[in-house]
Amino acid sequence: MSLLVVGTVAFDAIETPFGKTDKIVGGAATYISLSASYHTKNIHLVSVVGGDFPKEKISSLNNRGISTKGLEIKENEKSFFWSGKYHNDMNTRDTIDTQLNVLLDFNPQVPEDQTSPDFLMLGNLDPDLQAKVLDQMKARPKLIAMDTMNFWMDLKLNKLKENIARIDVLTINDEEARQLSEEYSLVKAAKKILGWGPKYLIIKKGEHGALLFNKENKVFFAPALPLEEVFDPTGAGDSFAGGFMGYIAATNDVSFDNLKRSIIVGSAMASFTVEKFGTERLEEITSEDVQKRMQSFMDLVQVDINLIDA
Ligand code: AMP
Repeated sequence: MSLLVVGTVAFDAIETPFGKTDKIVGGAATYISLSASYHTKNIHLVSVVGGDFPKEKISSLNNRGISTKGLEIKENEKSFFWSGKYHNDMNTRDTIDTQLNVLLDFNPQVPEDQTSPDFLMLGNLDPDLQAKVLDQMKARPKLIAMDTMNFWMDLKLNKLKENIARIDVLTINDEEARQLSEEYSLVKAAKKILGWGPKYLIIKKGEHGALLFNKENKVFFAPALPLEEVFDPTGAGDSFAGGFMGYIAATNDVSFDNLKRSIIVGSAMASFTVEKFGTERLEEITSEDVQKRMQSFMDLVQVDINLIDA
C-alpha cells in the first residue's frame, strides 16, 4: 500500500538538560517517513527545503526506500528552522525560534502518480499547505491522519479547524488538545474535537503514553516504554505518527482493533527516537531492533487475570 507523507523537512537546534545541538536535520516529515520505513514500502514525501539542506540526508531517506520526487529544493532559499528548549521534566518544551523561510511561498505539488495514495499522513505544517495537499487528492485515501501544533493553533485556527473536518485521525499532544478544545478534561476535549468531524483522536502524553478515542466513546491507552535514558524528545510525536501510519499501510486495515495495534507500533518507534539527538537513532536501528522493541512493548502491556469471586 502507498503512503504519502507531507510535513516539514528542516533544521532544528535543540537544548535539553543533557546537552545542546547546533543545526541538525529534523522536521516532522523526516521523522514520520523514516519511522514508517521500518514497517512499509512505497512511501512518498512531499515537502520543501532550501539549497542549504545536505544532499546526503536526502540520499539517506532514499536509501530507506523513501521517494523524494515530491521534495522541492529551492536552491536560493533557506530551509525551515526551528529551535526549542526542553524543561527538566523533558515532557514540556518552549519554542525559542521558528523561521519559516522556504515555507513562506511554498506551493506543494503532489507528483501526478501520487495523487491517489492509499494512505495520507499530513504531518505538522502550515494548515493552508495541508489543505492544498488535501485538495490535490484525486481519490479519498483509506485513512487520512493529521498532526499539528500550538504554533498553528495560535496563527491559523480557522483553517486548522476546516482541515480537522476533512480528515479521519487527528494526533495532538495533551496541551494542544486543551488549547484546541478549551476543555481541561481530555475526555471532554476528545468529545468536542471528534464532534468537528474526525473519526478518531489520538492524544499524545509524552512519557505517559497515548490515548486513542473514537466517536462511540471507546478509549484505548498505550503506555510509553519506561526508558533508562531519554536524551531528546524532539520528533517523538512524529516518529509515533510514522510508526502508526506505517503499520496501518502495511496491514491495510483501518479497524479500531488495528488502530490499537498501530498505536503500540507508534509508541515503540517513538521510544527509539528519544534515545539520541535528532534522527540519529532512527537512522541506525535495524529491523531486528524494531522487532525486539515491539516484543518489549507486548510484554509491558500483556497480563492474564483470573477473576476471583470472593
Ligand atoms: P515533535 O517533537 O514530534 O512534535 O516534532 C518536532 C519537529 O517538528 C521538529 O523536527 C521541527 O522541525 C518540527 N516543527 C517545529 N515547529 C514546527 C511548525 N511550526 N510547523 C511544522 N513543523 C515544526
